[in-house]
Parts: sequence; structure tokens; C-alpha cells
Amino acid sequence: MSEKFDVVVVGAGPAGYHAAIRAAQLGFNTLCVDQWLNEKGELQPGGTCLNVGCIPSKALLDASHKYSQAKSGFPALGIQTKGLAIDVAQMQKHKRSVVASLTQGVSGLLKSNGVVVMSGHAKLGAGKQVTVSSDQASPVVVQAEHVILAPGSSPIDIEACRCDDDIVVDSTGALEFEGVPKRLGIIGAGVIGLELGSVWSRLGSEVVLLEAMDSFLPGADTQVAKEALKQFKRQKLDIRLGAKVVDSQKSGTQVVVRYEDSEGTQSETFDRIVVAVGRRPQTADLLASDSGVSLDARGFIEVDEHCQTGAPGVFAVGDAVRGAMLAHKGMEEGLMVAERIKGKKPQVDYDTVPMVIYTHPEIAWVGQTEDGLKQKGIEFNVGVFPMAASGRGMASQETAGLVKVIADSASDRVLGVHMIGAHASELIAEAVIAMEFGASAEDIGLTMFAHPTISEGFHEAALAVSGHAIHIANRKRR
Ligand code: FAD
Repeated sequence: MSEKFDVVVVGAGPAGYHAAIRAAQLGFNTLCVDQWLNEKGELQPGGTCLNVGCIPSKALLDASHKYSQAKSGFPALGIQTKGLAIDVAQMQKHKRSVVASLTQGVSGLLKSNGVVVMSGHAKLGAGKQVTVSSDQASPVVVQAEHVILAPGSSPIDIEACRCDDDIVVDSTGALEFEGVPKRLGIIGAGVIGLELGSVWSRLGSEVVLLEAMDSFLPGADTQVAKEALKQFKRQKLDIRLGAKVVDSQKSGTQVVVRYEDSEGTQSETFDRIVVAVGRRPQTADLLASDSGVSLDARGFIEVDEHCQTGAPGVFAVGDAVRGAMLAHKGMEEGLMVAERIKGKKPQVDYDTVPMVIYTHPEIAWVGQTEDGLKQKGIEFNVGVFPMAASGRGMASQETAGLVKVIADSASDRVLGVHMIGAHASELIAEAVIAMEFGASAEDIGLTMFAHPTISEGFHEAALAVSGHAIHIANRKRR
């Protein structure tokens, strides 16, 4: 194997494998190194996203949602569900088969694009030399013309409740339960906590989420966050805000967690605990002291808006750099960097990164919130459409939620779109495209949407910006 490469990519997660494939497509002799091994000791690409993140969580979310619909929604539609039962082992088997197909698919894509794949831990030294070490072979030193670092992130552990991979687990462990815990405590009511909490609650766990912050989903639109809290409470997710976990003690097969809230110190006993308090960049032992690449105080690789590090020819993308820790953000950064190495000039538009929470109803948004715009002193108009008024929503028992369009009051340009409702994860793409093309609320209002669809909610919300929605009572007209 050649030990010189045009491009060396460290990490075969979504950010890294996108970068590697595009680099190879552009004619570069490309190496991709990853240390993720499957149970057979073989390299398994796909990173967090495919192995223990986006994909396995959605497999369980979809399966548990179908069960919950069958249990509580089907009888009203005239569908009998006598004898309905869950088989967690089969759900896990389904999840594993999806993960296996996709990770094998990525291996195939890397190979068919001509990317050389190497298994092992990579460390970047001076002069773009990458040393790859593994238990199987002696270290290999590779000389790179360009390096793309995509080492991703790992779950944050907290001292007050240390993971033991048994009773107390992180998000990876929470995707592996082989039975339904009777009482499940989740530390952190952010995206991952809510998604995992939803899975196990739908399957029968009594779920309590302990969130240290006083506000719920602070990054989301306030009205959407309020609606979400109402919907989750209805689903019996017990979300306790301002509840800071201070310590935990094992007691037989259970854990007693102590937390502080506005009323003092409280305690709760759980059968399992999931610690879902966030993720940190996986940059320990990635860089030799003379690599020329710097980390910030929290361990993120420092980069400019084009993902260039302080070392010429070395780039970093994905969860290990600033910005949202989301697979699609990393993918776009990976593609951008490969193309910039080729001399092209693409950019990532960080103002239109879609955010999605795959609960039910789903929550999705893109762009600015009302609160953010107020802080910046930007004047705006708002159009809201409640999904309760959607014909397709009624027909399909999906009337929870709303769509909100926020437009600049002077130009009518769309500045933000916020949704809570069925299929919001799919619908948000319409808003992203509209914003990428600089659409005004009027442009969306003048666009034809198929009837009856859930996406008509976006159309109506855009019309509501000027007080012209048809299916709601408009108070304001402009
Ligand atoms: P990773 O996917 O973490 O990949 C990094 C890769 O680099 C790994 O394979 C690792 O083995 C390898 N590596 C690290 N260091 C080295 C080294 N020194 N040498 C060799 N290899 C190395 N995001 C979404 O957008 N949508 C979702 O629905 C979603 N759901 C999620 C659900 C859960 C439960 C979790 C945990 C995460 C979820 N995420 C989701 C986040 C998403 O998984 C990450 O944003 C994404 O995987 C980051 O991609 P990445 O390529 O930067 O890093």
C-alpha cells in the first residue's frame, strides 16, 4: 500500500465518509482511517450516526411509535388490536439488521469510489504525517498532502452519576436494553434524552427526565417548546425542570438518585438510568504537540468558517468542530472541504441547518426564533397554523402541533420556520429550500401545495404572515 496520499481522512462517521468519498470522486488518492470495530474485530464505518446514534435510535423510535399507535390510535379507526404485544428482542434484531446493512453499505461505497480504508487509531503529527496504530499490526506512518480530521464525539459522563454499563448507561447503552425497565430515569431532557425517553415510555417504562436547566428546549421557539412540553406530559413523560442531579447510590439492582430543585433535595429510585447530558469532541490523543492544530478550552478543534485549522492543508469537520452536533451538518462540511481542496469554493450555510427532534409529534426548525430576532432588534411578522385545522391531519389522527413562519417585516423574507407535528422532520426540508432560495412568505403563499397534505400547514402559516390564511380565523391583515 502506498504510504503517500493526496487526502487522509481521520474518521469514517458521516462527516468523514462524505469527505473521503467526495475527495475520491474528485480524483484524489484518498485514505480513510477509523478505529470503530464490530464484534468480529472488523472495521465498521458509519461512526456514531450509523452505529449508535441517528439510525439505531430511529429504528427503535419508529418501532415503538407503531406499537403505541396500534395500542391507542387504531381502535378509533376501526382496527382491532386484540393480542397486541411487544417483542423487544425482535425490535433489537431489526435495529441491528438496519445498522448492519447501512454500515456494510458505507464500506461498499468507500470501496467502489476507490477510497483506501485502514483500521486503527490515527494521530496527526508535524508536516501532515499521520500515524495509524492498532493492536493487529505495527504502526504505519502515512504522508498526506491534505488531512481532514473527522473524529466525532462521545457521550459526556457526570461525576454525580457515573455510567457502569449496567444500571447506569449512556445513550449507547439505552439503545441496547433487552427488556423494558420498569422505572427509567433520564438525566437530561435534551434531544437525545427525549428521543430515548419516548422509546422506552411507549414500550411501558415509567420515565422521569431530570433536567438541570429551568427552561425546556431553550434553542427551540418558545411556543413550540411549550406545545412540546404539553404533548410530552400527555404522553406521561415526567419532565422535571430545574432538577440538578447531585449524587447517586446503587441499591441492589436499583439506583437512588438525589437531585436538587427549587424546593430542596429530592430523591428518586430507578431500575435503569440513562445519562444524556450532551457530547464532547473526541480529540484526546488525536494530535501530536507539533501538529500545528489547536483545540479550544472544551476540546473542539479550532477552525474557520471553511473548516480550515491553524495548520495549512489540515481541515476538521463534524462534531469535533464548533456548531451543531448533527450528522447532516458534518456531511455538508465534509463535502465542502473536499471540494475546497480541489480549488472549488463551496460554503456551508450555517444559518439554514435544520434541527429535528424525532419524538411524536416531531419537532423541527430552521433559522431564527422570535426571541433571537427580538434580541437583535429585527422586526418581523409571524404566521401560525395549528395542525388541528389540517384536513389531512384530522383524517390521519395527526392534529397535534403547529407550523410557524417568521418573516422580516420590511422585506417579507423568511427568517425562520418552526414546526411541531407529524412528519415535521420531512416537512422542514421545504422550509430549508425556501430559505436557501431567499423566499419571502408571499413566495411560499403563491406556491401550490398538494391537497390534502400535512405540508399545507406550511403553506397556510406562510399565508398567515400577511393575515391571508384560509383555514384559520385571521385577526391581523396586512
Ligand atoms: P462520528 O459519527 O462520531 O464519527 C467519528 C468517527 O471517527 C468514529 O467512527 C470514530 O471511531 C472515528 N475516530 C475518532 N477518533 C479517531 C482516531 N483518532 N483515529 C481513527 N478513528 C477515529 N444527528 C442527527 O443529525 N440526526 C439524528 O437523528 C441524530 N440522532 C442521534 C441519536 C443519538 C442517540 C446520538 C448519540 C447521536 C445522534 N445524532 C444525530 C448525532 C450524530 O450521530 C452526530 O452528529 C454524527 O455522528 C457526527 O458525525 P461525525 O462524523 O462528526 O462523528
